[in-house]
Amino acid sequence: MIRQGHTNGQAPVNRRTPAASGRSPAPAASPSLVTRAVRSGLGADTGHRAVMPPIHLSSNFLFDSPGVYDKYDYTRSGNPTRDLVADAIADLEGGCGAVVTSSGMSAILVVTRLLSAGDLLLAPRDCYGGSHRLFTAEAERGSYRVQFIDPTDPAAVGEARALRPRVIWLETPSNPLLRITDIAAWARLCREIGAICVVDNTFLSPVNQRPLDHGADLVVHSTTKFLNGHSDVVGGAVVAADPDLLEEVAWWTNAAGVAGSPFDAYLTLRGTRTLHARSRIHEENALQVVAALRRHEAVARVYHPSLPEHPGHEIAARQQSGWGSLVSFELRGGREAVDAFVDGPECFALAESLGGVESLVAHPATMTHASMDEQAQAEAGIGMGLLRLSVGIEAAADLVADLERALCRVEAAACQLV
Ligand SMILES: *Cc1c(COP(=O)(O)O)cnc(C)c1O
Repeated sequence: MIRQGHTNGQAPVNRRTPAASGRSPAPAASPSLVTRAVRSGLGADTGHRAVMPPIHLSSNFLFDSPGVYDKYDYTRSGNPTRDLVADAIADLEGGCGAVVTSSGMSAILVVTRLLSAGDLLLAPRDCYGGSHRLFTAEAERGSYRVQFIDPTDPAAVGEARALRPRVIWLETPSNPLLRITDIAAWARLCREIGAICVVDNTFLSPVNQRPLDHGADLVVHSTTKFLNGHSDVVGGAVVAADPDLLEEVAWWTNAAGVAGSPFDAYLTLRGTRTLHARSRIHEENALQVVAALRRHEAVARVYHPSLPEHPGHEIAARQQSGWGSLVSFELRGGREAVDAFVDGPECFALAESLGGVESLVAHPATMTHASMDEQAQAEAGIGMGLLRLSVGIEAAADLVADLERALCRVEAAACQLV
């Protein structure tokens, strides 16, 4: 069922329009994605010719006459500032358009409106905790059925065919062990059986992975993370490969009233301008952090897709254009080692979330994955000694020195125990 038309005029749907050609004399080669991201929306202000687009906070817009208005009538349904960031994100992901929502979870919620009662959603066992909670609660009240699977298991693709799912949900790399799923393999299955392939691309951002290029139908983002990148907005986005799916997701975004605020849109657009530049430093730093962790005795294991021994390294090398800046590692000393590690690092703040300019450390067992019971944690490979880093864009030398000091504290604590 494709819903079209909106209850109150202007759709929040934002189909990408070709960039205005300005006054350039010759139709030059189209600028690279990096340049387009930096310059997105420049010159959009025709009123005062501001270089950077202004922010339109107004909730409502003038009508010409009863029932007749230009492009916008009401900000829940459509807003110029929100449209600019939707354009930028759709361009980054190579989609036909995007919907910008109030949070990553509301982006996920509107995508699940594509499911009707009885439809089956297949989702990863280790998907984002908020997604797991939403899917389970909706299934319990009969909105749709859900089955959790291991999409990194090559046999799972064949097994899924017989289940006739309506939506297949992927999240790669996974949290916190950064397990890699082959998007193209699942997208091919979706095409064969008429299912919708959705990828939560929050962990890598379109700079490092573009799921639509691998055949996915929809990409969802928590723009809270890398896209905004400064840990000062909670927001989300859905990017579609196809205008019909976009229309339906946009219809629900307006109907449910979960479109993102203009102020958040303004900040997120500002963030997307520096996404490529930030991502480069995030990755350089992450690789140095990985090397430092691997040198150290107190570390039993490091998880990062760049490592040749990482399961999924080959797929990541093929499907990603960067390794990403989330790094997980296991300390030998379990919980006590963790307590010594997190006892006062200067650069790695103990907090949830990821993708901001600032480095963070999280303890999945007691923080991001605390809602899982001990057995589920053990099955997911989340031990008491596991830590997850979101490597920021501080000076790499400072991050490495900070980690080395923290690992020394771990060793000192271990010595005291003996
Ligand atoms: C944070 C996150 C979400 C939820 O996004 P919010 O903006 O917190 O609502 C969804 N998926 C992933 C992978 C995330 O990291």
